[in-house]
This record gives sequence, C-alpha cells and structure tokens, in this order.
Amino acid sequence: MLQKALMILQHRGQDTAGISVFDGQSINTVKDAGLVTTALPRERIASATGTVGIGHVRYATTGSKNPKNAQPMTMVTASGQIAVAHNGDLTNYESKKNELLAQNAVFQTDSDTELVINILSRFLGMGNDPVRALRKTMGEIDGAYALTILINDQLYAVRDPHGIRPLIIGKLPDGYVVASESAALDALGAEVVRDVMPGEIMHIGTDGFKSYPAEVKTQSAHCMFEWVYFARPDSVIDGACVYQVRKEIGRILAKEHPADADLVMPIPDSGRAHAIGFSQGSGLPYEEGFMKNRFAERTFILPDQREREIAVRGKMNPISSTVAGKRIVIVDDSIVRGTTLKQLILMLRDAGAKEVHVRVGSPPIIAPCYYGVDMKTRDQFIANGNSVEDIRRILGADSLGYISIEGLVSAVKKTENELCLACLNARYPTRIDGEEERFQTRLDDHGSF
Ligand code: SF4
Repeated sequence: MLQKALMILQHRGQDTAGISVFDGQSINTVKDAGLVTTALPRERIASATGTVGIGHVRYATTGSKNPKNAQPMTMVTASGQIAVAHNGDLTNYESKKNELLAQNAVFQTDSDTELVINILSRFLGMGNDPVRALRKTMGEIDGAYALTILINDQLYAVRDPHGIRPLIIGKLPDGYVVASESAALDALGAEVVRDVMPGEIMHIGTDGFKSYPAEVKTQSAHCMFEWVYFARPDSVIDGACVYQVRKEIGRILAKEHPADADLVMPIPDSGRAHAIGFSQGSGLPYEEGFMKNRFAERTFILPDQREREIAVRGKMNPISSTVAGKRIVIVDDSIVRGTTLKQLILMLRDAGAKEVHVRVGSPPIIAPCYYGVDMKTRDQFIANGNSVEDIRRILGADSLGYISIEGLVSAVKKTENELCLACLNARYPTRIDGEEERFQTRLDDHGSF
C-alpha cells in the first residue's frame, strides 16, 4: 500500500524513495536512489511488512542528492526506534545544527530531516511523552515541515505552524492514512477526512486519530506554488481543488491580458488546466499544440541546466498541423529561468506559428524559496532585474502577460495573508537564517504570528 501511494506522489520527488514499517517488533526501513519502482521493488519491500508505516519520495533541496539523504531517516535511541519522513525545508537548519554540534551531537547527513530526528530524540530522552517532545521540537525548528513520524509502533503526523506544505488525512476501511495530497488517498480508496491543520500534531491509530491543535494561534501561509504547479490537478489542497484553481487562473489571465489570436494551447502538462481556463475566459478555441513524451523526466526537477535543455527537445514536439500559420496563445503555469519556454517558442516558430503570445499562471518569480521548492538562487530567475518587456524580448514572444498577485490570490479563494507568496514578493512567513530583514517586513505588515 505504501509503495502504491508513493507512486501516486512520484511527481513530488524523483531522487530517492523509501519506506519504514513497524513489523511487530522493530522498524524496518528500505530506501534507495531512484523512482519508487527502482528504489522499492517488490522483492526488497517483502521484508518490510506490518500494520503501521511511513513512506517518502525525495526531491533534493536542502542537502545533496546523495542516497544517504534518502528518507525516512531513522535513529535508534534509548526511547526506542524513530523514523521520520519530511516534506519541506527548515530555515534555521544551519544555525540549529551548529548549536547542536557544539554540544557534541553527531550528524551523518546534510539533510535537515536529520536535525528533526536529532532534536526529537533529545526531548524524548529527557522523559517527555511523544506529543510533548514533538511540541518542543516544533519550538526549535523554523520553516516548512509536513512530517510523518514513527516512534516504535506509534504514528504521528505534524504540520508546521503556517501549514506551508500540504498534509491531509483519510479514512480506510481498517485504519487511517495521511499523505501530502488527496490524490494519494483517492488511489488507496480512502475517504478524505480533512487537512492536518497548521501547527497540529496528530496521533493516528487504527481506530481513530487524536488531535493536538497548535497551542499558539498562527497565521497560515500555504504555498501558492502547490496550486500553480507542484500538486496534481486531481488533488484538493487546503479546501481548494488544484484543477479548478488552475482553470480560474486561466480565466482571470484572459481578462487581465487578452490576446488577439486564433487559438490557445497549453505547455503540457502543468499548463493544461490554465489554458482551458484561458480558452473559457477568452472564447478562443483550445488546441493541443505540443506532443509530450510522457516518459520524460520533469525538467524543472532535473538538477543541472544543461541536462534540462537537452531534456526539453526529447520531451516536447510541436504539432505542425495545429500551429502552422496560426496566431497562438501559449499558457504556462510559471516562468522560473525561462530557458525551456524560450526553446519552445523557437520550436513553435520553426513549425510555422505566425505569432506566439505567452500568458503565465503565476506572477513573476523574483525571490528564492526556502521552503522546499528548488528555486534558491536569485540569479536564476528571468524576472530578477528584468521588466516584463525585457523578458518578452529575451523569450522571443510577441506579447507576454503574467497574472497579477491579486488575480492569483482570488483564484485560490483565500486572502493574501493566508498564502505564502514569498517567491513573488520576498516577504517570508518565517524567520530564515540570513533573511532577518525580510521576515521583519512581513511581521510589520501583519503583526505577530
Ligand atoms: Fe511556495 Fe514560493 Fe512560498 Fe516557496 S516561496 S513556499 S514556492 S510560495
């Protein structure tokens, strides 16, 4: 079952995959580099059977791609065995790790998840019960974390106080399951119960779950990029269906940036729902103008620029009969570096497109993400220091329009204060090592969290 759920969530990480299962006596962990089918073949997971377990697919952001950073991370302590699976990035990893190193703590990886397990084991070792130890651990770490944790045979789910990364619980006929996205619950035949709330700790058993809500009220800051790009369109995240949000983004884009064109087409696959919305909002016919190789890797997730460029040609091919002689609107979910899009526009022109107008489902990305999306260096953003007109020229498009922040927020049907928009406005919802000034800006705007 764990392997099946991880395959549904494969789009969230392709570097490593792993599971930890309590087999009645101890926690068995199987993990390795690669996709779920490679890292967790049937014969390897046959030994990891039991009634309670956690799983993880990794997309390296904090810490290298080294397989030693594969999750779940495990530790044997005086309080028993611990296994942790973590989605998100901690923003005080370096400073907290240095603090612990000075106290003779030992770290074997460069993954921030090891910090979580290290701090948790210390609080458990001081005699705190698991919920108290988790609460104290949350008091020590900043940033984005959706965690599933096994302490011996006991399962916990934890979401950071801002709920930056998603986490949702569902009910199976014989128990409960938590996952990053509701699509994984659907695949297992689980009935969605609800999202794990920001700052909440859940203790989950076969006969129910007990909630330990956040002790201090916090302001949510759900990652807008989950709806724009990251999550599967068939998932519902924090009450908003990803597919419907993307269509609404397209409809708003059509109003904010209309185009005189013959047809609208998506950059498949993540721009598809946005393009359908644009077609509905503009009245322009929707067409498929690129054939995508379904078996190619997600280029955004590939770690190296050169690898990404080579991957684009192997991944997309224009359908000449759709594009030749036409004035085209192409809709993409977002533009980070712009290198892929630039190549695609060239390919459309080579295939005979008369005009290429670009519409984008996210406002310009100008600031790094420290919460688990691999956009860390300002220099890599095409929108950094370039106006929209500059970007249009660099891309070689006939026109370019980005959705506004207000348009995006209204498509998600939340308020600006309920979302993380930090990569769009550089206002971070948590403290970040080296980014004190920016955190202060947001604090001044919204009072204390
Ligand atoms: Fe999401 Fe951007 Fe915030 Fe990162 S900075 S969590 S990508 S909204």
